[in-house]
Parts: sequence; C-alpha cells; structure tokens
Amino acid sequence: MSDRVTRVGSDTAQAIHAEHPPIDLHADTLMWSRWTGYDLHKQHEPPLPFAAWGGHVDLPRMREGGMSAQFFGLVSLPLSDRARGMARVIHEQIDALEHQISKRPGALRLVRTAAELAHATAAGELSALLGIEGAHALEGNLDNVAAFARRGVRYLGLLHFTANEAGFPAFGKGRRDDAGLTAWGLELVEACESNDVFVDLSHLNKQGFLDACRVARKPPIVSHTGVLGAFEHWRNIDDVQLRAVADKGGVVGVIFCPRYVGGDGLEPVVKHLKHVVDVVGEDAAALGSDWDGFIVPTRELKDPRGLPLLTDAMLAAGFSRSSIGKILHGNVMRVLREA
Ligand SMILES: [Zn+2]
Repeated sequence: MSDRVTRVGSDTAQAIHAEHPPIDLHADTLMWSRWTGYDLHKQHEPPLPFAAWGGHVDLPRMREGGMSAQFFGLVSLPLSDRARGMARVIHEQIDALEHQISKRPGALRLVRTAAELAHATAAGELSALLGIEGAHALEGNLDNVAAFARRGVRYLGLLHFTANEAGFPAFGKGRRDDAGLTAWGLELVEACESNDVFVDLSHLNKQGFLDACRVARKPPIVSHTGVLGAFEHWRNIDDVQLRAVADKGGVVGVIFCPRYVGGDGLEPVVKHLKHVVDVVGEDAAALGSDWDGFIVPTRELKDPRGLPLLTDAMLAAGFSRSSIGKILHGNVMRVLREA
C-alpha cells in the first residue's frame, strides 16, 4: 500500500500487532490540540516545528504503528490555569477531542470499556480513552470525579508536579517524602473507584503511592513511569511499589523518555519492561509513552510508527509472543474489564 511505505519492523512484529494492537496509557496530545488546534487527523512530519517535545501522536501515525488505542492525558497547570479554572481547562481538552472526532466520523471513537474498544477496532476505527493528570483539576470537589467520568474519563492521576489536596508529588512544588495521602486523598480513591475511574499513581510520592495501593479495591495503574531496578532516577518506582500495584491486579506503563529510562534507543525501554516482568510477572507490564508530554522520546519511538521496532526488540530480548501480546494490548484490556 503506497500510503504505508514507511512501515517498519519485521513481519512477525506486524503479525503480533495485528493480533494484539498496541494500547498506550499516556500521551498529552490534547493539551496541544487545546493550545494550538493540533489536528489529530493530519500526519505531522516532522513534529511541531518549534519543539521536539510535542507533535508525536496523530491518527495516521497510530495506524502505521498498528495501534488500537491511545489514552490521552488531560492536563491543567496549577499556576497558569488557576484563573481560568482548572476543571474547565480539562473540559476544554475533552471538547477539543469531541470536535476532532466529529470532524471526520469513522476515524476515531471515544471509548470507555474494553468491549467498546474491541468494537471500534473491529470496525476499523482507532480508540481514544481519557485520563486526568493531577487531582488539582478537581478543584477540591469530589463531585467533579463523577462529572469527568460522565464525559468518558477512565483514570485520574492523583498528583502531578505540585502538592494538592490529595497528597504530595515525588518531585516538584510542595514535595514531601514523609507524608502519604491526605484524608481527602483516601476519600478520592474511593470516589474514583465508585465511578469506575482508575487511580493513576504516576508522579505520586512513595508513601502516597503505597497508601493508595493499600486502600484500592480495583486495580491501580501507573500510566507512565520508569522503574528503579532498571535505572536509578527520582522519577522511577521501586520494586516495593511494583509489587503493591501488581498485588491489586494493576498495570505499569513504561515511559519512552531516555532521561528516565537511562539512555536513548530501544534497549533501555526493553530493560524496564523486562524488569517489571521479572519482578511481578507478565501481567503487569504495559506501554506508557508520555508522547506529547514535554519529553523528547527515545529515537526509534519518536512517534507511534516505531512501535513494531519495540516489538522486535522485545522478541530479540527473549520475550514470548504471548507475553508481548499482553504488554501491548492484553493487560490494559484486562484492567478495563475489571471496572
Ligand atoms: Zn506526567
């Protein structure tokens, strides 16, 4: 097919993707759509002219990478967005997605469940799922969980880069290492779960992270992270945290950022995936690119087109086909089914 000339990866990788089309747990693309009108339907090549840390995800490149679904992170910035209203800024990103979906019917579907996702894939449509990055977006109001859930939000990251009503970040403004989740934060976990919203533990300090896992009744997720066992960095989680998530049936999405995985290229990303599998088994590992999130992604994974290369790198590292299928697709689908 002439429009697929840039396809990369072995036939085996393409076959695995056809059977287990990748789902990525975190890309901040809608932040760009809200700011710049970034068009999901258009292929961006090269990425945004003014930066390497955005312009990674669009529908043509998702198709080339053989993807089925992208979770879009919804971002509000406590300093600059406070005046506008942080919840409103989240709603505006969902508006931007809905606008893009309505512009070209039959290309992208906003889905909430595993069944809806599978349906869209079978119909030849890509799926979008929604998550929020940082509980400050709730503006202290637990009712906002239900309001966002009604619009399709499936996970809520408790923290981002600033302390909020729920707890303290692993890094950033108001960081504290000696405190876990607040009473409100514990209530929030419950509110999320009763609205079928997964709790995302990215950016959360270790005590808060373990608190959330302790009280969780549904699988918690870590949508984008590296692991300390593969590379020492403040952004990464340790084996105790890995086990706490896996014990509750959750998944950990490995980030594609060289700074956090310890080097450029596919090998460091595979090393992190392998560490997750080695410590807690093949049911807990997933993809958490952080595309469009102010990171410069690793060379081969600068956009979704490179995903078959990651699959080949996992094959070369000795991952079984079924294990790769779980990492690309199956584990996230399982968690979505648990709601
Ligand atoms: Zn993030």
